[in-house]
Amino acid sequence: MGEFVFHFGGDAQSVDPRAQEKAVVGGKGANLAQMAAIGLPVPPGFTISTEICAHYAGGDRLIDDDLRAQVAQGIAHLEAATGRRFGDPVTPLLVSVRSGASVSMPGMMDTVLDLGLNDVTVEALAKASGDARFAWDSYRRFIQIYGDVALGVDHYLFEDALEIAKEDNGFFTDVEMEAQHWKALVSEYKSIVETETGAPFPQDVDAQLWGAIAAVFDSWDSERARTYRRLNGISASLGTAVTVQAMVFGNRDQQSATGVAFTRDPTTGARQCFGEWLINAQGEDVVAGLRTPQYLTRAAREAAGAKPLSMEEAMPEAFAQLTGLFTKLEEHFRDMLDIEFTVEQGRLWVLQARSGKRTAAAALRMASDMVGEGLITQQEALLRIEPMALAQLLHPTLDPDAPRDLLAKGLPASPGAASGAIVLDAETAERRAERGEAVILVRVETSPEDIHGMHAAVGILTARGGMTSHAAVVARSMGRPCVTGTAAISIDAAKRSLSIGGRQMREGDTITIDGTTGEVMAGSVPLTRSELVGDFAVLMGWADQVMAETGRHLGVRANADTPAECLVARQFGAQGVGLCRTEPMFFQAERIDAMRRFILSPEARARQKALDHLLHLQRDDFRQIFQDMAGLPVAIRLLDLPLHGFLPESQADMATLAESLDIGLDKLRRLAGEMHEFNPLLGLRGCRLGIAYPELYAMQLRALFEAACEAAQTHAPAQLEVMVPLVSSAAELAAIRVQVETIAQDVFNAQGLTLSWRLGAMIEVPRAALMAGTLAGEAEFFSFGSNDLTQTTLGMGRDDAARFMGRYVDRGIYGADPFITLDEAGVGALIALAREQGRAARPDLELGLCGEHGADPASVAFCLAQGLDYVSASPYRVPVARLAAAQAALRAG
Ligand code: PEP
Ligand code: MG
Repeated sequence: MGEFVFHFGGDAQSVDPRAQEKAVVGGKGANLAQMAAIGLPVPPGFTISTEICAHYAGGDRLIDDDLRAQVAQGIAHLEAATGRRFGDPVTPLLVSVRSGASVSMPGMMDTVLDLGLNDVTVEALAKASGDARFAWDSYRRFIQIYGDVALGVDHYLFEDALEIAKEDNGFFTDVEMEAQHWKALVSEYKSIVETETGAPFPQDVDAQLWGAIAAVFDSWDSERARTYRRLNGISASLGTAVTVQAMVFGNRDQQSATGVAFTRDPTTGARQCFGEWLINAQGEDVVAGLRTPQYLTRAAREAAGAKPLSMEEAMPEAFAQLTGLFTKLEEHFRDMLDIEFTVEQGRLWVLQARSGKRTAAAALRMASDMVGEGLITQQEALLRIEPMALAQLLHPTLDPDAPRDLLAKGLPASPGAASGAIVLDAETAERRAERGEAVILVRVETSPEDIHGMHAAVGILTARGGMTSHAAVVARSMGRPCVTGTAAISIDAAKRSLSIGGRQMREGDTITIDGTTGEVMAGSVPLTRSELVGDFAVLMGWADQVMAETGRHLGVRANADTPAECLVARQFGAQGVGLCRTEPMFFQAERIDAMRRFILSPEARARQKALDHLLHLQRDDFRQIFQDMAGLPVAIRLLDLPLHGFLPESQADMATLAESLDIGLDKLRRLAGEMHEFNPLLGLRGCRLGIAYPELYAMQLRALFEAACEAAQTHAPAQLEVMVPLVSSAAELAAIRVQVETIAQDVFNAQGLTLSWRLGAMIEVPRAALMAGTLAGEAEFFSFGSNDLTQTTLGMGRDDAARFMGRYVDRGIYGADPFITLDEAGVGALIALAREQGRAARPDLELGLCGEHGADPASVAFCLAQGLDYVSASPYRVPVARLAAAQAALRAG
């Protein structure tokens, strides 16, 4: 066995470079080692490498002698650095045991503090510190955490016992508890442990240590850690490291404190100290929202109108020391950091530092500021921004002119606004969201068990917790609007009701939250979309520059069906429309009526009349789009919907239609029944409609070419592309091509004008990919419809797969949901084949992709590597795709 335990801090740090590598010692361990190496005040410690986690889980949880020996050396290192001894009855060493994977998983795994306390060392701690209250309080905290995390005792049992103890003594807060009260509670806690586990609370400090190490390794496989990994695409094989560190105490006296600080404001990105602290407290008190934290700076306190002194005012020296470290930390890590610190009797310690979570707006501002400050390069700035986070910037905000029924105000924890039905637990959130309902998860506070509900919700509202609480951190990283610390909320979980600002409400009632201001309002308030300016425009400029400099190319177009969407797409820099779906155009009342008459009328004349009516409307749709996209390519896709999708469903609609067609209701029902399909997604849809009902496509084509000619009278002509869906054979495409040519010529003759146009096939079924060589004979471009291509290649319904895909991803059968991230091995192989054969037959064949994968960063990277010409994404995701393309180009070098 090699070296698996690495030391930091004190005078004997590991010299092995692996001691500072994230993959080996986890993010937390690596940062601690690096901070210690540059001379920051870090309590000494050691880290057990991530490799042991896999070895432990895969090796029947075995801990061998070699590891035991290396950990014993680690403890010896701590003893030498602190002058204390582990388990010593006079000067005992206490440690914290923390998890840390190579990627950040905030709050996902358990931390044990104050380890090394037992019935003997607690007395020694009391004597050495001269503070029996502090010693017994630490011991009860340790039993509570260790009992929960390592021994599996339900934490409510401890919390209930504490509540009862306070009640018995007539106290309201923990601060009123004296040494003898904590001591009595320790006895109570120990008997809870013995009753629940059948064994006394372990007194042997080595047994305590190994119990905690095993608990950290076990937590890697906990339900909540697995959910977090699934949602964030983190591999299960990475494993967690375990860091054991000498304890420092923020709960020692009034000269002690603990807190969280960010080197820049994580909400706005401004270069100013931001964070929270608590005097005489331990770290968990801040993060878990058990006490309401105070402000770090005087300015922040005054702005909030709060009374308790800020750190800047109450401990000016420690505060100056803390902010003095910011520059050093940022210069070393070249990023904005989130720091956990403790002040022990006036002395500042940094317990951990990691790259701080931030809103997309803050990420943008910091990236551009740091380039300006010379801290990072433009390319680094581009790589730092999570493309999907850009979508957060486009979050709706409240319409400033709309009336508001304000209920309460909390902390503005994650920006954006959302309206939805109140749900009181994560399961309900998930269930109702699955039915397509927008829900706001309202909790006293959130915990990692709520993560799936937070994901399902459009917004999160909590009664407790600060700006760095679990809810705030997770919501920011998920891009969900969030308001925390709303004290005016009280929840009655049993009655499924709550009161907000004194107003009684029930689960299911609609509220609106504004995560930018902290406001909570009754009902739904209209929302508006934000504009993209400032730092965003700068970043997009860099992205374009990078594409030009790397010599790589991947255009970004938009999937836009309406003139309004085309305008948004242009504003976001789309280079054309890659997919204009025409189905939605038929769903407005007047149109669906005409469509139904076309489908169901037994008379040819009535059918043609219905089509003529539709022709006028379609022409107007197309003309406006061509005008808005003047000079750019626009791919209009011919109709792709099973015809029965247009049929009336309600009895009332049936009756109205029967009347307008002048046929009996029974006959109409029979005609409609004849259109029933067992599997509509594989039925009469796509270009099969054009083969079965040529007059339908003829109407669309005529509307298309006439509109293009009309638009060209006043604007630069759009580059017209006719896109044929669900093609499976060259002969099928050839038949449609003849129809297109005939109608185009007819229109050009009538208008006295000729426009160029191109025909393309959507590659959406495996046969199309396999026959790409012959298809290219009939098509000037291919567009990969990756939604259908995934559905048909995997044989999984695109609307049904979500119900079981979670299990596939959990079990690693698919690395990611293939309807979100392109399945490169399967679907990707078909794309590669189609590209190869298509370009062999027609070297200038243009290739695009227009499924939902067009803005998924991993899929965009694949498209770039495959040499596709463009991806096409929904208008609000165009910036996401542009950034993802630039990042892929940079990474490809
Ligand atoms: C696709 O299948 O990927 C596609 C873009 O078409 P639609 O989603 O309209 O079926
Ligand atoms: Mg499709």
